[in-house]
Amino acid sequence: MTAQGQPARSTTAADVPRRNWAGNVRYAARAFHRPTSVDELRRLVAGSTRIRAVGSGHSFNRFGDTDGDLVTLAALPPVVDLDRERGQVTVSGAMRYGDLARHLHTQGYALANLASLPHISVAGAVATATHGSGQTHGNLASAVAGLELVTADGDLLRVDRDTDAFAGMVVGLGALGLVTRVTLDVVPTFELRQYVRLDLDREALDEALGSAYSVSVFTDFRSPRLREVWRKQLADQPPPPADWLGTTAADAPRHPVLGMPAENCTPQLGEPGPWHERLPHFKLGFTPSSGDELQSEYHVPRTAAADALAALDDVAHLIAPVLLVSELRTVAADELWLSPNHQRDSFVLHFTWVADTAAVLPVVAEVEERLAPFAPRPHWGKVFVTDPEELAARYPRYADFAALLRHLDPTGTFRTELLDRYFPR
Ligand SMILES: Cc1cc2nc3c(=O)[nH]c(=O)nc-3n(C[C@H](O)[C@H](O)[C@H](O)COP(=O)(O)OP(=O)(O)OC[C@H]3O[C@@H](n4cnc5c(N)ncnc54)[C@H](O)[C@@H]3O)c2cc1C
Repeated sequence: MTAQGQPARSTTAADVPRRNWAGNVRYAARAFHRPTSVDELRRLVAGSTRIRAVGSGHSFNRFGDTDGDLVTLAALPPVVDLDRERGQVTVSGAMRYGDLARHLHTQGYALANLASLPHISVAGAVATATHGSGQTHGNLASAVAGLELVTADGDLLRVDRDTDAFAGMVVGLGALGLVTRVTLDVVPTFELRQYVRLDLDREALDEALGSAYSVSVFTDFRSPRLREVWRKQLADQPPPPADWLGTTAADAPRHPVLGMPAENCTPQLGEPGPWHERLPHFKLGFTPSSGDELQSEYHVPRTAAADALAALDDVAHLIAPVLLVSELRTVAADELWLSPNHQRDSFVLHFTWVADTAAVLPVVAEVEERLAPFAPRPHWGKVFVTDPEELAARYPRYADFAALLRHLDPTGTFRTELLDRYFPR
């Protein structure tokens, strides 16, 4: 079946992005490729000594940056194959969540959760354990039931939840193979309403985060109070009462970044709508977030939420000047080896920084130092400076993943400089 909204197929390597979405990473690849068949991709991988895939390029670091061949899978024949009996859908790795979501909704299905933006590719998002918010929802990788990937020797490997080491392969950092297809769990489609509430007392943070299907809290570290609560609740639930947790209701649509147009955001003010037009903050076809930014994000145990936030008070004066906005979310635990939510219900502190790497990196280091007592696990697709040994100590299955890397990619075909730093050969 052909997916709606997929980009037209093309063989032009010129269509492969030369830099990431934020523009802070210019890809160092010596050649760019856009194969139009899986066989062509397999030949490309088999004939390459160093190769990586790029998804939609929304990551902020160099894990995916190679000095060899960079390939987009966006011109492979699109696949979206819904298995109603199993409650699963198999899609092309390069498909954007936004396109998949529209298709699923027309078929009466949904994904349990989505990230803040629908622009990202399924394989790229899963590789970095991208997440949304919700105390009972895992990250997007936790919905993965199967993968098809081209391994270092050009073979096609299909794995599923019954495969040994599957839990190590899902959040694979793009380092185990090029993912051509992903099978995801689906649920019946559903409707949500989104309400924005203003000026939350920190004491009420935990209650607010657990109050609805998916909740995000925005703050700017300029005040101990929390600026906005974005409450995405099932459409048949009653709206929050006028004095909900001491907040007031926003009387017009908002954008998380002050000064940016609310038109870029999904409908608010309690207007009911389908899951995929409420769970992401940003609309497909519009610029998500600010567009001129860097991002960092840290997962700590949910039970440490208040303490982790309080630990940043001492450095709030350093954070605020380089911050566009900070978002606080929750993610349920899973079993995936490199998931930041591995065996840990999580509270997640996100930072949208100004687009100034030199000014931001020292503040990132300060934030990491303050959060260190809570064993923070950074988002794999964002900016972080954590020492590799410290990071390894925060993941019980880190060494197992390193062994899996050596097993599946013995010659280092998918290795990159940053990957080598965090997973020495
Ligand atoms: C504005 C904005 C908002 C964001 N919001 C969120 C959010 O709400 N929650 C969150 O968790 N994250 C968020 N992110 C981060 C983003 O979701 C991740 O960085 C994600 O990895 C981006 O997916 P992508 O398709 O752009 O992947 P890319 O950045 O292109 O690639 C990411 C990694 O996956 C690998 N990869 C890509 N495709 C394949 C493939 N087919 N096979 C094998 N490896 C592959 C790449 O080599 C790379 O290592 C946001 C980013 C931006 C810019």
